[in-house]
Amino acid sequence: MTVDGNTPAPQPGAEGVVSGDTLLDVRDLVMHFPLTKGIIMQRKVGAVQAVDDISITVRKGETIGLVGESGCGKSTAGRAILQLYKPTSGQVLYEGRDLTTLGSNEMRRMRRHLQMIFQDPYASLNPRMTVGNIVGEPLQIHKIATNNKERSERVQELLKVVGLNPYFANRYPHEFSGGQRQRIGIARALAARPSFVVADEPVSALDVSIQAQVVNLLEELQDEFNLTYLFISHDLSVVRHIADRVAVMYLGKIVEIADRNSLYENPSHPYTKALLSAVPIPDPKVERKRERIILTGDVPSPINPPSGCRFHTRCPYVMDVCKEKVPPLIKQKEGHEVACWLY
Ligand code: SF4
Repeated sequence: MTVDGNTPAPQPGAEGVVSGDTLLDVRDLVMHFPLTKGIIMQRKVGAVQAVDDISITVRKGETIGLVGESGCGKSTAGRAILQLYKPTSGQVLYEGRDLTTLGSNEMRRMRRHLQMIFQDPYASLNPRMTVGNIVGEPLQIHKIATNNKERSERVQELLKVVGLNPYFANRYPHEFSGGQRQRIGIARALAARPSFVVADEPVSALDVSIQAQVVNLLEELQDEFNLTYLFISHDLSVVRHIADRVAVMYLGKIVEIADRNSLYENPSHPYTKALLSAVPIPDPKVERKRERIILTGDVPSPINPPSGCRFHTRCPYVMDVCKEKVPPLIKQKEGHEVACWLY
């Protein structure tokens, strides 16, 4: 505080300084998993560079889509943001507080605001617990419901909110379909009344006919509970439906980030263009005419990623500079950033 009792003006770049509508500010996040050799004397022989220096700002109430091929690091990024993995370096500012510096007690308290919906509704629910106990567990952990009656009322309310019969609370996960199980997972994530939810491929394990229902439910819940989402998916059609902004990841790096319409209508990065060219278009006339960009080769290993631009081994426009220097993410126009030496 200053002598006149006012809070001093924040310094740019200081911890805790985020613009008014920013909920989460991820800065230079790195998540490397060490590779070791030897049973007793474990020597570090390398690292899986799953997430390498990503920065992303998430505004209150928006949905950010994080897309890329499987193995590109998007799920690891989601988990590192929520501190389910301890990041190698970087900052994750949630309402100005750096989560990476919190002790385990403080992080446990903070966790009620930050929840996750998992990909596999079959594996993410404990088969030995009733639905009521699964959904009610966060209420107990975070001391939201003080007695059994309050807890069971709140569980019934949550089941209703996600479109399930509240009398299902005594049943077990195996008695439900995939879509219903994902609704149970969503109810569990919402139980602690979070403000930020990472949804990690929340519909990819479901039948196509069920996917739209779950995506619509997530949208309704976002409006009702003022939620902010990080929506991780390899499915660009689903992301186009739900996201306000989209970040594209390739081999641990964000290569392009833009408002949804800007990204889908005017993609800039050669990798984004290739991904979008593979998305089917429902109109057969348009589908027949459009150009497909076929990428050659496999995604390189994150243990030994290519130098310079990590996409250079597969890029049809590769230049000498691409092999030597990492392209920075630069603003191409308002709301559109791209990491490519072509721009
Ligand atoms: Fe391709 Fe070079 Fe751009 Fe990377 S920087 S995407 S290799 S043109």
